Amino acid sequence: MIYFDYNATAPVMREAREAWLHVTEKIDGNPSSMHQAGSRAAIALANAREQLAALLGCHPLDLVWTSGATEANNMVMHHFAKKLAPTDQVWVSAIEHPCVGDSSKQYFGKRVKAIPVAHDGVVDLDWLTAELADARPGLVAVMAANNETGVIQPWREILAICQAYEVPFFTDAVQFIGKMPMAGLGDCDFVSGAAHKFGGPRGVGFLKIPHRSAITPLLHGGKQEGGRRAGTENVATIAAMMAALEVRENQISRSEHLLRKLWRDNFEAQFLRALPGASIIGQNQPRLWNTVSALMPDGDRKLQWVIRLDKAGFAVSTGSACTTGKEEPSHVLSAMGYKASHAVRAVRMSAGWETTDADWDALLKAVVKVHGEIQHGKS
Ligand code: PLP
Repeated sequence: MIYFDYNATAPVMREAREAWLHVTEKIDGNPSSMHQAGSRAAIALANAREQLAALLGCHPLDLVWTSGATEANNMVMHHFAKKLAPTDQVWVSAIEHPCVGDSSKQYFGKRVKAIPVAHDGVVDLDWLTAELADARPGLVAVMAANNETGVIQPWREILAICQAYEVPFFTDAVQFIGKMPMAGLGDCDFVSGAAHKFGGPRGVGFLKIPHRSAITPLLHGGKQEGGRRAGTENVATIAAMMAALEVRENQISRSEHLLRKLWRDNFEAQFLRALPGASIIGQNQPRLWNTVSALMPDGDRKLQWVIRLDKAGFAVSTGSACTTGKEEPSHVLSAMGYKASHAVRAVRMSAGWETTDADWDALLKAVVKVHGEIQHGKS
């Protein structure tokens, strides 16, 4: 099986497994305990916090460990639901992951205003600037990169606009972290991340909050994480997360993702030549180097593609892991203005740091073969 579904989850790196095993075998205590075993766990946790703070560019105490991005993102919405006045709005981009989009609707209902995106998948900055001239929401939420299309959002510009209007800015950086250089992310008021998107274990992530600010806890109980998130920290998975992120940061600092982007671009060029009628979503916008979001030729349906490619030994997806099995158009493509008849042809191929140029070649051959089969109606 050649794996092209890194945006759903990435294979756990050897370094992350080793870090997990090391902490599990050698560090027994609860980080909140006063004895030496507890101190060893607390030190491991503090080291991880410092490491992440240095990478993001924030203070270590601005970080809260969570069970993943879903929790971190819900925490942001929950916090603002408690904090804002009953008439305050939150402005949330139309292409957010459901754990931001749906949770904002859950907490704010009609007080959520959707920030529109253009047909190429980029948030409309003109809209944002024009609307801010008239009104002040309690929060602006725009993800750093989209999970379905890989389109990178202008989060630096949005941060600057929000700062100018003194509106808190939250970015879900789940797909960005570990794939692109992280510098500057820590300047955003709220940033979420999840380990399993960059080679760490599933079920662990973090939320960066504004310096010296309080956050209303989502989980109540013990006083862990400075009273901001109850529950004994999973030190081993946090250490594993940081081991994976360190590997990725080193690789990114050597610009190896630029070579990987060339491989992906080469695949796309050949793909478009081989499959008349196919297109690449957001092709001319800055995109994550690993993601191909393709609209397959007219008449093809995405599930058919995913199943046939799976049989041929390639793991790809219909868009987002959360919508797997559904033939409905994704909310992301709908927000980008794709008609349902087009959006149901979208297939996402997302590579990773272990994907080789030969893997892309093999995928292309399989895609061409499956296309031929579909055209000839073979089962
Ligand atoms: N945000 C984005 C952009 C994602 O792609 C995902 C997962 O697919 C999440 C949030 C949720 O992450 P998790 O399922 O690890 O909580």
